[in-house]
Amino acid sequence: MEITFSGKRALVTGAGKGIGRATALALARCGSEVTAVTRTKADLDSLVQECPSIKPVCVDLSDWDATERALKDVGPVDLLVNNAAYPNLQPFLEVTPDQFDMSFNVNVKAALHVAQIVARGMKARGSGGSIVNISSQASQCALKEHAVYCATKAALDMLTRVMALELGPHQIRVNSVNPTVVMTRMGKIAWSDPEKAKSMTSRIPLGKFAEVEDVVNSILFLLSDKSAMTNGVILPVDGGFLAC
Ligand code: NDP
Repeated sequence: MEITFSGKRALVTGAGKGIGRATALALARCGSEVTAVTRTKADLDSLVQECPSIKPVCVDLSDWDATERALKDVGPVDLLVNNAAYPNLQPFLEVTPDQFDMSFNVNVKAALHVAQIVARGMKARGSGGSIVNISSQASQCALKEHAVYCATKAALDMLTRVMALELGPHQIRVNSVNPTVVMTRMGKIAWSDPEKAKSMTSRIPLGKFAEVEDVVNSILFLLSDKSAMTNGVILPVDGGFLAC
């Protein structure tokens, strides 16, 4: 199945590292104009060095006003990937208000905000569009020391559904991709310990974690016209973890 995004304009958040960076590069390879949004300038510099057509935007998405300013002149966007996230790993009884706020600000509020900015433009142009929110298997399964992270991703799943409901009439599709562990920086923070990793892989029917490419391929499918009638879907990329 060939997917091309020629003539499309994409925006990817959290594009400095991991899944977001690979998604931005894949979209550019498939012909899309890409705006990469993240908060570490060095990551944007190396990304642009790797793919000079990518437009960098440096902003901390936990800051609503700074995000508004940074994306003011971003121009029309047809494809949005809300990927940036903050991984909070406090046990439930130790959750602190600052970590709670940071998690919800990045994982939920920023996704809503960036989608508002982008979808307003899509609606005004009447050209439709596709939005993919990067959620997690943690949205639907309790994981130890992931109370706040799980809660943010569960909130993001419901946001995806309501966005699909309200934006669908404007031909804007909204779906989510819900991966199992991927050994990016974020994955390594929680799952580097071999015993802990085994406790997870043993619950995944395919017996392994996901690769970055597994997640990127699902994102590209949901962004593309190959999924033209798919809207409001929560798509696990989890080797069957959530099926059990
Ligand atoms: P990484 O930590 O590798 O990359 C996250 C990217 O998001 C970084 O570039 C980071 O920038 C950026 N980012 C984080 N916070 C902000 C912020 N406030 N403003 C702007 N940019 C920000 O994570 P992954 O690639 O692993 O994760 C991508 C998505 O996949 C996330 O939504 C995550 O929840 C989800 N996911 C990941 C899984 C995994 O095991 N890796 C499993 C399931 C879901 P900086 O480096 O500057 O912080």
